[in-house]
Amino acid sequence: MLSGTNAITIDRRWRQLWKYHGSHRVKTFLWLVSCGSLLMNANQVRQHLATDATCAVCGHGYEDTDHILRKCFPALSIWSNIIKPTSWDECIHSNIQDWIVSNMMYPSLYMTDDSNWKPSLDSFAGYCGTE
Ligand SMILES: [Zn+2]
Repeated sequence: MLSGTNAITIDRRWRQLWKYHGSHRVKTFLWLVSCGSLLMNANQVRQHLATDATCAVCGHGYEDTDHILRKCFPALSIWSNIIKPTSWDECIHSNIQDWIVSNMMYPSLYMTDDSNWKPSLDSFAGYCGTE
């Protein structure tokens, strides 16, 4: 059962995601990321579905959602093209749940002027086949 700060935080996240006007698959994807529920290798090991949490792409020892979406080198190469250099540290190293909510509330917070968070997410979710 959720209580106190956790319940408030999850409620705040859900309210922001509910306001998202993109595709349903992106909204679902963001909610799963926000809850840490994607079945990355670290989650599979935690649930005894696998024995190795290593990232198959780069060999990093702990493949969680944050690693795949922000820290693995293919993700870093994408983000480096669309994140403002002045926002880089905050964007890459902030808590991933706060990062999602911040981007939902202020789409241009981290992104360069010619990038757009929402179409990028829709394309990414479509590419991943989340729907
Ligand atoms: Zn990796």
